[in-house]
Amino acid sequence: MRASTLTWNNHSRDQRCHPRRIVHPTTTAELVELVRDAERAGTTVRAVGAGHAWSDVALTDGWIIETDAMSGLLEFDGGTLNTAARKDAELVRVRGGTRVRTLNALLEDRGMALRNMGGYDGQSIAGVVSTSTHGSGIDFGPFPDAVRSIDLVVAGGKVVRVEPRDGPTDPGAFAVRHGGTRTLEQDDEVFAAAVCGMGCMGIVDSLVLQVRPKFWLRERRVVRTWEEVRVDLAGGVLGRHDHYELFLNPYPRKDGRHDVLVTTRDEVAEPTAASPGDGERHPLIEMQASIPLVWMALRLAARWAPSLLRTQFGRTLRRMEDDNYTQVSYRVFNIGASNKLPALSMELGVPAEGDLHTRAVDRILEVAAECAGSRRLFHTSPIALRFVAPSDAFASMMHRRPTMMIELILVSETREGITLLAEYERRLADFGARPHWGQYNTLGPDRQRLDELYPRWAEWLEVYDRFNATGVFDSRFTDRIGISRK
Ligand SMILES: Cc1cc2nc3c(=O)[nH]c(=O)nc-3n(C[C@H](O)[C@H](O)[C@H](O)COP(=O)(O)OP(=O)(O)OC[C@H]3O[C@@H](n4cnc5c(N)ncnc54)[C@H](O)[C@@H]3O)c2cc1C
Repeated sequence: MRASTLTWNNHSRDQRCHPRRIVHPTTTAELVELVRDAERAGTTVRAVGAGHAWSDVALTDGWIIETDAMSGLLEFDGGTLNTAARKDAELVRVRGGTRVRTLNALLEDRGMALRNMGGYDGQSIAGVVSTSTHGSGIDFGPFPDAVRSIDLVVAGGKVVRVEPRDGPTDPGAFAVRHGGTRTLEQDDEVFAAAVCGMGCMGIVDSLVLQVRPKFWLRERRVVRTWEEVRVDLAGGVLGRHDHYELFLNPYPRKDGRHDVLVTTRDEVAEPTAASPGDGERHPLIEMQASIPLVWMALRLAARWAPSLLRTQFGRTLRRMEDDNYTQVSYRVFNIGASNKLPALSMELGVPAEGDLHTRAVDRILEVAAECAGSRRLFHTSPIALRFVAPSDAFASMMHRRPTMMIELILVSETREGITLLAEYERRLADFGARPHWGQYNTLGPDRQRLDELYPRWAEWLEVYDRFNATGVFDSRFTDRIGISRK
């Protein structure tokens, strides 16, 4: 076959592929036709959202389905819901390509909000669900756990609604409405497999999400030391705030201690005056983000003199201190412009149980010191630590365990950045570290490792083998982890 002249790049432009077609369907019928056409043509399809994955999970050399035209809230009932779901004002049906930012605005118009979200809102809802994107808060699971039902177009162009046994659909009403054209699977296991599918289970057409009434959060940011925070974690601080997260300077101060920016967020009543700004609560970070020259200087430093940047971490964390940022929830969750910076990130999930997570941080400090000392490998940003509730989804990084997600963020083109990230993946492996599917990782075709990391991996594969029976959703990612069907 002739090589494609098309190029698709992810958001940070560090992942690239040459698809044979890039299409923008709007309707379910078009998705069905696309999957069938691809099967007939002997090629593959992959749905993409906003291209925010740092890993290869969205790449294909077949056809790319860009989902930006599949956006918005759908009529919730459509004549197929059971009585309880129809009365539940906290459920909405949203199309897979809807950007989180758009969804937040649509929900706000209805006086509603997401219960939790990650630190940014540029992704699509199907994208964040498919890779188990998360925020922070030990009582809040990742995105797949907000999903109650999911409409997929799977191999053969079949349209399947998958939901737990007690899902919102009335099977009788569904049969009347969709007859032989769509299938309903109400099965806890199939749902737990399909909901976090990394794009391999088919195309997510729409989802039913559990949301809540609009609410307000107060955020505080204060610099402490890791040595103090370690004691707080052992003393149960995670349960004392709705949301708790950390930015760790992996390099010691002169006194040998490590700075940590502690961020807490707690629900408050609607304030008479909200804090000013639109989620950009740091003028200096915002300046760095918006003035290309400053950013270019940072990039050059990361490339040629990464050790210089670490001297700025302590000061940067101090500049981020803030006693009160009170706003509507999604503006507080979204940390804003710093997320638009060209960066590369790896995230590893370790259990937040017993002292495992605090020991994992000790290990991080060891690795940072060793790498900086003998190997001259340096971080170019502090490390984020976020805490997430266990997830039911079989392929979620948080599956069945409270999790501390360790986010290793680097300025793009950091010298030997990939070597540094791979070192952390290796050195945290004995903590059972699960790499974020949507961020840089080096998982290979190692069935034993996947089985060890994900105790329900075999069940995930069973559903995948069915929904990708023809191999139409095979991709570079499925090749890399050794699960392609063809
Ligand atoms: C600036 C930035 C901030 C981030 N913040 C966080 C964070 O706070 N927490 C966190 O956990 N992660 C975070 N991430 C990672 C990001 O949330 C995930 O990689 C997410 O999957 C990207 O969503 P997307 O819509 O861009 O999807 P893409 O990158 O386009 O695709 C990701 C995966 O979803 C699949 N997919 C997308 N749409 C569909 C669909 N309709 N049907 C089937 N499969 C689909 C793709 O095939 C692919 O496998 C961040 C990334 C960036 C760049």
